[in-house]
Amino acid sequence: MNRLILCLVWILLAGTAFGAKSGKRPLLLVSVYPIHAMVQEIAADAFEVKPALPYGRSEHDYEASAKDIRVLRSANLLLIVDQTTDGWMARATGNKVPVFEILPHVEALTYADTVGVAALGSSAARVMGRLPDPHFWVDPVRMGKAAMAVAGRLAEMTEGDEATRNALIERAKVFTARMSRLSDSIVVQAKSLPQVSLILAHGSLGYYSRLTGLKIIGILEPLPHVEPTPRHLGILIQLAKANRPSVVLAEEQIDAAVAASLAREAGVAVARINPLGYPDSATAVSIGAYDRYLTRFTKEVAKGLTGK
Ligand SMILES: [Zn+2]
Repeated sequence: MNRLILCLVWILLAGTAFGAKSGKRPLLLVSVYPIHAMVQEIAADAFEVKPALPYGRSEHDYEASAKDIRVLRSANLLLIVDQTTDGWMARATGNKVPVFEILPHVEALTYADTVGVAALGSSAARVMGRLPDPHFWVDPVRMGKAAMAVAGRLAEMTEGDEATRNALIERAKVFTARMSRLSDSIVVQAKSLPQVSLILAHGSLGYYSRLTGLKIIGILEPLPHVEPTPRHLGILIQLAKANRPSVVLAEEQIDAAVAASLAREAGVAVARINPLGYPDSATAVSIGAYDRYLTRFTKEVAKGLTGK
């Protein structure tokens, strides 16, 4: 009997801790893997974190399935890049789930400043040059800023649980400090990259090129998932020929056929890259997962540029 009373007292005490009231941790949904990896590290075991975007799919045009919508609706918070990029997560719930937009917190630059007006091409530059480039997850320093903002937002959900709140902020500080070291290490790794002109299938590497000195001369689909016109394709073929050595790096989320035909016509190599990454374990996203993703991605880019 005494044991039963003790059990009941324990359950009642445990029940007052943050997140344990319903026996369930609050659920956070995130679209792209690199941001998922960061959020998982900050949230640790205080929240449940799940991907909303299947691995290998593009963040720009995903159409949530009925099952995805059920999961999205069950979330306590959707962590999105911004409404333009992965706002489909919020729209799929009929805007019924709270949303936190990360892009306003990372000192985003415009596409004109990341990819550059010349690489966008004159007609796309008119539309996109002034838009914020959402692909901040390839830039560790901006990921550090994102981590602090995410921790601040999650802290608001801790219902006065000071210990959880402080732990969130502390983990974000540790992550952010590590990001500046990671940034330095990527800069060092990039020094050995060959000086090759790049044509990207999609404008995902603007921030990354600022960090690493990659030379982007053109983009196949400046507007995400809008197929290039024959005229734009012709300009890119000329650019690839005039700026040798050059190579086409085609993001895995983009249809390979157009990139391959551009490379063929220009007589240059094409390599596939995956800036959205994927988890290094099927079961869990662990501490340092973001660092491993970016290091692995840098090796992928080096392989694409050198052909080795
Ligand atoms: Zn993108």
